[in-house]
Amino acid sequence: MSNKLEDIVDQLREKGNKITSIRRAVLEILIKETKPLAAGDIIALLKRYQLEPHKTTVYRELDFLIDKQLIREVVFDDGQIRYEKFEPGHFHHLICLSCKKVDKIELSDDLDKEEKTIERKMRFKVKRHSLEFYGVCSKCNKR
Ligand SMILES: [Zn+2]
Ligand SMILES: [Zn+2]
Repeated sequence: MSNKLEDIVDQLREKGNKITSIRRAVLEILIKETKPLAAGDIIALLKRYQLEPHKTTVYRELDFLIDKQLIREVVFDDGQIRYEKFEPGHFHHLICLSCKKVDKIELSDDLDKEEKTIERKMRFKVKRHSLEFYGVCSKCNKR
């Protein structure tokens, strides 16, 4: 899928979806942002677009974008729901405890071996997993 805002907006329109200024702005914010954002962060950023929507409006937009598989929810160990642009594939987050930067990484073989062990030992059929790494990024490490 294209990452370009205009392409995504065109595709949504072609499928008969209305593009409100809030919808467009929320989409733009999440496409441009590299790290996942909480709803509160998005509401704060919307002020730059001279938009001050009600919280429920923002949540409705987020649900819409999730439904269209343009964004997805992520939850880290603080339990807060954040949103990031949807990218195909399976990856893990690397979260810097110092600067809060969030990177993504794809792992070769990933947890295939562990999942097989779980199935064998626990007779538990794993459907998916989520795993985050918390540490110090290269920039913070240099300081
Ligand atoms: Zn850092
Ligand atoms: Zn994985």
